[in-house]
Amino acid sequence: MNKYKLLKKDLGNICRVCLNKKYGLNLQPKHCIYDIYPGLCGECNNVKNIVRDIHFSKRIFM
Ligand SMILES: [Zn+2]
Repeated sequence: MNKYKLLKKDLGNICRVCLNKKYGLNLQPKHCIYDIYPGLCGECNNVKNIVRDIHFSKRIFM
């Protein structure tokens, strides 16, 4: 899963919306594990819920 490896370095830094945009994904909130506190997204520079991890599912990456 190359895409997942790429994406992994952004986990903990950017929000779900940016993950979707950057990697052409369609992650839903239920797929995401968020940081406890909102943080500054490294992509859109807004205070957002930062995605710390995602529930791995092959379907997301198809
Ligand atoms: Zn963002």
